[in-house]
Amino acid sequence: PFDVLIIGGGPAGASAAIYAARKGLRTGIVAERFGGQVMDTAGIENFISVPETDGPKLAAALEAHVRAYDVEIISGQRAKELFPAALPGGLHGVALESGAILHARTVILATGAHWRHLGVPGEEEYRNKGVAYCPHCDGPFYKGKRVAVAGGGNSGVEAAIDLAGIVAHVTLLQRGSYLKADKVLQDKLHSLPNVTVLTEALTTRIEGNGRNVTGLTYRGGDGADHHVDLEGVFVQIGLLPNTDWLKTTLRLNDFGEIVVNDHRATSVPGVFAAGDATTTPYKQIVIAIGDGATAALSAFDYLIRVPAP
Ligand code: FAD
Repeated sequence: PFDVLIIGGGPAGASAAIYAARKGLRTGIVAERFGGQVMDTAGIENFISVPETDGPKLAAALEAHVRAYDVEIISGQRAKELFPAALPGGLHGVALESGAILHARTVILATGAHWRHLGVPGEEEYRNKGVAYCPHCDGPFYKGKRVAVAGGGNSGVEAAIDLAGIVAHVTLLQRGSYLKADKVLQDKLHSLPNVTVLTEALTTRIEGNGRNVTGLTYRGGDGADHHVDLEGVFVQIGLLPNTDWLKTTLRLNDFGEIVVNDHRATSVPGVFAAGDATTTPYKQIVIAIGDGATAALSAFDYLIRVPAP
């Protein structure tokens, strides 16, 4: 059995694996896809101390760093069920979709999250070429340009306020007849001179010239199609944690995030969690990496305190 079994090979999982291995713990990492969301990212300019990199480069560097240690990497495998230990210090089980069951004294869940997509023509084709999901990450790439934000909940309105300070103009499109964001955010949004808010505006297509986004089409409340010329579309209709398989085992919040404390301990003793899958605020690479380190150090602290099985 492992001392520490990490589920997820994104920035949080990679960091947890390195910290655990450096404590001399028997460490394993199960990753459906090593690199996680980083693999879907183009330019990265906020990985502190690396002014510029890209997703595949950073993912390869994360994997090489993990491989420099004695970590068992089980990649291309999905975990489907967690069986918590019956007694403190006992072994947890993790069932994989392949049918295998792995055992470990501690488990670190780092399964990340994924952005909900609009599912309209052009969205996949122009991902990272004008279609973006993360204003903290990609906002500065659109300095002085025109963008749209799809989504009128808190994250959409926050994104529109954030982007309005950077870009030339923001069009916020909300499918329903009113914005769902908190009133303070709506008041702030309406005070901005370079924001247009469209309600009953259903984005139906993202258009481009083969290289970059050039506009979008939405169906208005009048039933007609309307076109907006722009250079970027930020999709803000939800970030979904990859935690469905944990619903019955651990405490999740209303958004499906794994509830963790300051030590990244979950509601199950000996099970820790890190990164985008958790309640840790702000979903970013540097934050996920810090979180993974915290979770691994907490797993170590747990192991030196509980009786051996
Ligand atoms: P993830 O990166 O989501 O990794 C999750 C891991 O878990 C993956 O290996 C996945 O395969 C695995 N997994 C999931 N479920 C299972 C399962 N059941 N069994 C086994 N394995 C499983 N952040 C920045 O800081 N700067 C940026 O510029 C930036 N740009 C971004 C651009 C895009 C397009 C996207 C989508 C995100 C961007 N982010 C950026 C956000 C950043 O990628 C995430 O915050 C970060 O990757 C979260 O790390 P994580 O390890 O928590 O999860």
